[in-house]
Amino acid sequence: MFEKILVANRGEIALRVIRAAREMGIQSVAVHSTADADAMHVRMADESVCIGPPASTDSYLSIPAIIAACEVTGAQAIHPGYGFLSENANFVQIVEDHDLTFIGPTAEHIRIMGDKITAKDTMKKLGVPCVPGSDGGVPNLQEAKRLGAEMGYPVIVKATAGGGGRGMKVAGSAEEMESAFLTARAEGKSNFGNDEVYIEKYLTTPRHIEIQVFGDGKGNAVHLGERDCSLQRRHQKVFEEAPGPCISPEERAAIGKVCADAVARINYIGAGTIEFLYENGEFYFIEMNTRLQVEHPVTEAIFGVDLVREQIRVAEGLPMSFTQDDLEINGHAIEVRITAEKLPEFAPRPGRITQFHAPGGLGVRMDSALYDGYSIPPYYDSLIAKLIVHGRDRASALSRLNRALGELIVDGIDTTVPLFHALLQEPDIHSGEYNIHWLEKWLETNLQG
Ligand code: ADP
Repeated sequence: MFEKILVANRGEIALRVIRAAREMGIQSVAVHSTADADAMHVRMADESVCIGPPASTDSYLSIPAIIAACEVTGAQAIHPGYGFLSENANFVQIVEDHDLTFIGPTAEHIRIMGDKITAKDTMKKLGVPCVPGSDGGVPNLQEAKRLGAEMGYPVIVKATAGGGGRGMKVAGSAEEMESAFLTARAEGKSNFGNDEVYIEKYLTTPRHIEIQVFGDGKGNAVHLGERDCSLQRRHQKVFEEAPGPCISPEERAAIGKVCADAVARINYIGAGTIEFLYENGEFYFIEMNTRLQVEHPVTEAIFGVDLVREQIRVAEGLPMSFTQDDLEINGHAIEVRITAEKLPEFAPRPGRITQFHAPGGLGVRMDSALYDGYSIPPYYDSLIAKLIVHGRDRASALSRLNRALGELIVDGIDTTVPLFHALLQEPDIHSGEYNIHWLEKWLETNLQG
């Protein structure tokens, strides 16, 4: 059993891991940059180590500094949270080479899924349905144009190493292909050091449906249903819910089984998410994330499980604490991602919080690292809080969200809270009738600068 784990992250996700560890009787070590000396994760952990200056490349992404922090504190395992080093196969390899445990999948799983072309190829072979598209990488513009004509426009050109919504360009016609192809390639090169791209049919009205999977690394795996994350801005999720409003129990059981079987066959260990676009009753795989997702709490709410606890358990070599038959959906959960941004342009607004009050009451969970007087540093992601509500059905979850947003106080900075108040006025949000383009269109007409 682990006695001490190091959390290689910051913000709300670092707190999330520290809390799970404490409930399991495990000590936690926070690492932090000089800009985060007063951060909540540093205050809440049992120990902390400063690992470098503000820039994340010199601190939260510094592999030698993190390994050294383990050695200094005697931490036996590392939880990476999401982002930063959570999907860095090289890091996992180095962790293992130092006789430490990485709380997550193997370097090999991360490598396979981190490259979108290899991931798609692997999933196809494991029987998972994929978006129609090129057979692997597309070497040049001429080939891209040939494929565009063959598949029919619109198509989307994607960097195989892309992530976070970057490295993706839509070509609506043959004329747009040159720019889409060259831009996706350039973004892949500059953001991820890899200019390989592939092409997919661009689906025009899909929903984003993702399946939570969990494996024990010994050939056993389960699924924990789906999350609908269709409300997106610039391909980034802002509002997530579980179960998906348009997914039937039969569809859930069928796609869930395909996903659980696929990860069982590769002896996957820990939490993973298989992302799909869903259109006209069909699922199309787009990518797999080999880590805990930002939106994991909605799944935790409806299944009554602690996914971080499970991650730690399987990393210790213990079995999962539930089987597929134990997993039953209870009610409906919604998460909104609150960021320190000024509307309507979503301009980053770090600064000092003069007053903070988190909502509470039945069915409300607030995952946030804010506190009164905290100064949000300008160096990191703008996510400051995740508000998660759970109700007996979708309608009660929505009214609970409205109530909880009304209780929340974040003074001193601008946040995206007004966006969620406005969204809750929309009939489409209440009927659940939206696809991945709905929010962008709504923002264009409702939040003009
Ligand atoms: P990233 O790794 O950058 O998150 P994904 O491949 O997961 O990229 O895609 C992110 C989002 O981009 C999806 O949720 C969807 O909104 C959009 N997208 C991706 N592929 C397609 C496609 N083939 N057709 C339409 N939209 C797509």
